[in-house]
Amino acid sequence: MKNITLNQIVIDDKKTDYFFSVSKDLQKYFKKTNHLFLEYNIDLAGIPNSILAIPFVANVIPLIWITDSTLMVSELDKNFYDCLNKIKAAYQTMFPNIEFKGEIVVNTIVENTYTPEHEVASLFSGGLDALTTFIRIKDKQPFLITEYGWHEDDIQKSDVWEADKENAINFAKSHILENILIQSNYGNFINAQSIDRDFSRKLGDSWWHGLHHGLAIISAAIPMAFKLKIRYIYIASSNSPLYKVSCASDPTVDNEIKYASGGVVHDGYELNRQDKVKVLVDYYSISQETVNVRVCFKNEENCCKCEKCLRTIMGIIAEGENPVHYGFNIPVNVSRYIKTCLNNEVKFFTNIFIKIYWEIIQAKMKGNKEKILYKDLLEWFLDYNFVAERKKSLLKYRVTKFFPIIKRKIVTKFKRLSVYDG
Ligand SMILES: [Zn+2]
Repeated sequence: MKNITLNQIVIDDKKTDYFFSVSKDLQKYFKKTNHLFLEYNIDLAGIPNSILAIPFVANVIPLIWITDSTLMVSELDKNFYDCLNKIKAAYQTMFPNIEFKGEIVVNTIVENTYTPEHEVASLFSGGLDALTTFIRIKDKQPFLITEYGWHEDDIQKSDVWEADKENAINFAKSHILENILIQSNYGNFINAQSIDRDFSRKLGDSWWHGLHHGLAIISAAIPMAFKLKIRYIYIASSNSPLYKVSCASDPTVDNEIKYASGGVVHDGYELNRQDKVKVLVDYYSISQETVNVRVCFKNEENCCKCEKCLRTIMGIIAEGENPVHYGFNIPVNVSRYIKTCLNNEVKFFTNIFIKIYWEIIQAKMKGNKEKILYKDLLEWFLDYNFVAERKKSLLKYRVTKFFPIIKRKIVTKFKRLSVYDG
């Protein structure tokens, strides 16, 4: 029988370690240590095991479902246990090509309740989505939850985490808010490549993106929501109805998550990315606070060259603002800089990205022509044909990168032939 058993939860002040065993046929999906940990900046006193078990269950339950296995846990919170069927159903709708089966067996289901003392804790990466949600709910004085889930078996120094943490702490300080900081190995304790090898074709998505990350990120915060008596955990949407994608963090999944007396709100799904840039610009152009929008994935600073940086820079420009004021350190000759970067990066743009991000930015810039700070940018960007430019850029890329390789190969082959001939 395929199964996973949570054997032990060890609590040491601010850290909790989960030790579990896995049946032979599922072991390939885990790193050898069978160990998950979470470390908080707040101690874990007073949090029962039935609540602490939630992050463990949330991290492995999608695997239980797609492999038709059994998860065994000694104690679990009742509301969380009850919501699992709804989450399963939501995933089933999202991934119709795979059957979500399997079950969870709990010895003792515990009814936990609390009277909420705080309305909101919001996941906060410092990116555009998170900042938009922050602006929308800041009057509720949210706790800001910032996480790093990429440790190996233990905590090791990470410059990315240090930069994220510093940014979150400074941001909270300037708004007189409190941080919830969480470090974990949830992104690494499962062997995602091995799951992808067996399931990504059927899923049409990867394990981490399609099934894991939303539950991992949200559930890590649940013990703190319990401890601090928080009513809702907010997670900012990264998608919008513009383009339906399968994604572990989706309103149909996140909004179903319940624990003790708390719930989850998947915020801002109705807004597309440019709408969010407008929320940001409307707020910061008036408030005069300094802001650093952190969009570059797993980077300490915005690189200002990748597609995501470029699209955010251009989104801000399209709303009539200067990206330098939003944490994008770009050269003075903005038009020339963007053109060079865009021509270089456009070869990697997918049709979907062109449609849901870039053409919207272009349209916005057309509508806001008078407000755009860089007039020379308007001269070429408004008519920039992404598909044609991608074709051109790809051709150039192939000629410069591949032609010398092919040439080398032909020469070698020719040499070999001459040897044989000779
Ligand atoms: Zn970047």
